[in-house]
Amino acid sequence: MIRINENYLKLTSSYLFVEIARRVADFQKQNPGKEIIRLGIGDVTRPLPKACVEAFARGVAEMGEAEGFRGYGPEQGYAFLREQIAEADYKSRGVDIDADEIFISDGSKCDTGNIQELFAGDISVAVPDPVYPVYVDTNVMAGRSAAFADGRYGGFVYLEGNRNNGFVPSPPSGRADLIYLCFPNNPTGAVATKAQLKEWVDYARAHRALILFDAAYEAFITDKSVPRSIYEIEGAKDAAIEFRSFSKTAGFTGTRCAFTVIPKTCEAFDKEGNGHSLHGLWNRRHSTKFNGVSYPVQRAAEAVYVGDGPSQVREIIDYYMANAGLILEKMTKLGYNCTGGVNAPYIWIECGSDSWTFFDMLLNRAGVVCTPGAGFGRRGEGFIRISAFNSRENVEKALRKIEESI
Ligand code: PLP
Repeated sequence: MIRINENYLKLTSSYLFVEIARRVADFQKQNPGKEIIRLGIGDVTRPLPKACVEAFARGVAEMGEAEGFRGYGPEQGYAFLREQIAEADYKSRGVDIDADEIFISDGSKCDTGNIQELFAGDISVAVPDPVYPVYVDTNVMAGRSAAFADGRYGGFVYLEGNRNNGFVPSPPSGRADLIYLCFPNNPTGAVATKAQLKEWVDYARAHRALILFDAAYEAFITDKSVPRSIYEIEGAKDAAIEFRSFSKTAGFTGTRCAFTVIPKTCEAFDKEGNGHSLHGLWNRRHSTKFNGVSYPVQRAAEAVYVGDGPSQVREIIDYYMANAGLILEKMTKLGYNCTGGVNAPYIWIECGSDSWTFFDMLLNRAGVVCTPGAGFGRRGEGFIRISAFNSRENVEKALRKIEESI
């Protein structure tokens, strides 16, 4: 008898976006012809930068020529891309990361989801609340949790985000072996200071724990004092893996390219307490289960760093951040407490009622769709997330409608 992995039965259904779609469809049925503006989307809306499109096309053309054709590429990614990343994202900012410590992949979702395979089944996993659900669900699938009850899985250490800590939780007093952190944060838009990240790095080093640092929104940081990489913190190269993505940085959500940094000094331990290189283990995993990102896509990603690429990428990010500024300004003016929107494309708004009630109110009165915070965890209740990924026209119209209806 073929048996299933029963951990999958513990998963709660991904109720959030299904429920949003259901409520929007109901609204449309009852209000035919009424305009709806979606401010809940976590996907980019602007086209790829021109430099990336051109590099992408050149890569495709090369593949069609006998001299330029390539078959399987290196599993870790082409050196031309890893070297650009090491130089532009790290060395030029005073962080010593080698091209060989970078693994190119087809997305941070896969990497943040797959990395837990390297660790034992009985480690203690710490996840933020509110949270990007991939961290939680992949550990549930792997059997590191007990059943779901009262909005949470048993067995995890939940790192509570709230207004008092600005949605930047401190290290727990007890044990946490594998720690997920995400800054700039989805969904709260919060960023951590160097001092706050240092507390985490110190904790991880003292407890021989590991930080998984999701920096998918790093490109949205505008404040120079905010760290863009966990490796800006002394000692982090022994205690942290960093995930980055071209998805939000350069509009690659549909093109797919990301990378994971695993410093060669980063270790995890066997039962006897002997250290093992995580770089070596991930290399083994990656080259066994993954055959690389396509050559044209890696050429398109390389273009983010060369020629007109950087200024075109900046222009797109500035566009979204101007949207974020408008949303933050308006919602603050309307009297709501907001987090994010300054160094992040998300604005996290304390709505003063339960988040689905506020969602329904915005939909029914203004025709605006947001994301209810409750979908990101128990601590998301009472908040909504608004995203800056939209056209200026839509953002301005939505804000006008919100103002008129509140
Ligand atoms: N990490 C966070 C925090 C995200 O919000 C997202 C996407 O929304 C991802 C990772 C996934 O990125 P990718 O498109 O590279 O898979």
